[in-house]
Amino acid sequence: MAVHGDMLAGGPIDLVVRGAAVFTAVAGAPTLASGGIAVSDGRIVAVGTDAELAGLAARAGRVIDADGAILMPGLINAHCHAACTQHRGLVENLSLEPWLQAVWEVEQHYVTPETTYLGALIGLSELLLSGVTTVMDMFWLCEPTAEAAVDLGIRISTGSWFFDGPGMCGIRPEEWIGRAEAFFERYDGHELVIPGTFPHASYTVGPDNLKAAFALAERHDGRFSTHAAETRAEQRIITERYGASVIRHMERTGLLSERTVLAHCVHLDDGEIDLLAKSGTTVAHNPVSNLKLGSGVARIPDLVAAGVTVALGTDSCISGNDIDMWLSMRLAALLPKGVHEDPTLIRPAEVVAMATRNGAAALGLGDRLGTLEAGKIADFILVSSRAAHAVPIYDLATHLVYAAGKGDVTDVFVAGRQVVKDRRITTIDLAPRLDAMRELGAKIATRTPL
Ligand SMILES: [Zn+2]
Repeated sequence: MAVHGDMLAGGPIDLVVRGAAVFTAVAGAPTLASGGIAVSDGRIVAVGTDAELAGLAARAGRVIDADGAILMPGLINAHCHAACTQHRGLVENLSLEPWLQAVWEVEQHYVTPETTYLGALIGLSELLLSGVTTVMDMFWLCEPTAEAAVDLGIRISTGSWFFDGPGMCGIRPEEWIGRAEAFFERYDGHELVIPGTFPHASYTVGPDNLKAAFALAERHDGRFSTHAAETRAEQRIITERYGASVIRHMERTGLLSERTVLAHCVHLDDGEIDLLAKSGTTVAHNPVSNLKLGSGVARIPDLVAAGVTVALGTDSCISGNDIDMWLSMRLAALLPKGVHEDPTLIRPAEVVAMATRNGAAALGLGDRLGTLEAGKIADFILVSSRAAHAVPIYDLATHLVYAAGKGDVTDVFVAGRQVVKDRRITTIDLAPRLDAMRELGAKIATRTPL
């Protein structure tokens, strides 16, 4: 059994989960047929078989018998816009550039601090219920989104958007830096909020503001994330404007680094993949959004072969239309096989790693999140195996990627706190928020002013 510190010597044990099929997401580690974890003060203190955990269970404050469910790390969504729920299904059948114009046209009338909080609360609830315990999220207003995350008890990496044109909510381009500074100060050292800077993209933010956003992230040791190389049109625009392709332009601007997470990276040449690999930049792969907007299919096997860390995301539910990491996992596994006519590409365990420990690495938290290991933060989920599509299970990773889904997630814990119990959120009353969103949706549908 893997244990941490002197917990076996008699320290308090808050919780033991036992009787689970344990998938630790540790590279190369075997799965446990019937085992679990022990949790103390929000940390995992032991991972082992039921027999190994028996002594800890005997003195634990709470014992959960998992009844054969799969115990695994919480999923980490490396690219999302949770507050977009209010516009789910509103703008359809367009490619990225006209789609963005249509989305912004509506957002300028309906994005307020109040609607952002409501949208984020619902979007983040959707994520929690599907087993996501950490999300990297960007939106016009990061403050209400962070407040919704704290109220729900989900871990979030977010921070100020940057945008050179007129922003939603009347935010002027010169205001972003001050907003970003204030966000870093407000959430410095926060348990659930990991601050960063989140400029929209290099086609909407000029080099000076991109550099300013990156410098802020560096100064506060935060993350830096932006959209990049999502479409062929973006590559053409940036090449015409700056005389270099998107990733080369970012490299010249000084934005590629180990703190950088680039969403999409669909259209890359070999030289750009080398630049990402050499700089330690992470790619957040969003296969659902890339397919729905007709953007293309990212070169994930080439990125992996080059040594680039690939994490997984959902993007927003306007380009989704749900925010389902299980669908992202399945498509991440299936697309390379179909596109390259090669079923050996991208193994299930690699895909689960993208959705767990690679996501933790993207956030700079690989030593604290992303796997079930003694000493790590106790972010974990239970995935039911009492279902017609879940018997038998010969290989846990194969089952998780190709057969399991968001409806199988029954219980979710963030830092040892149970935030979903028996498929229901424990931290807020979701029902009245859903009613409020239906009312908001009715106004948006008829373009009734708020
Ligand atoms: Zn996005």
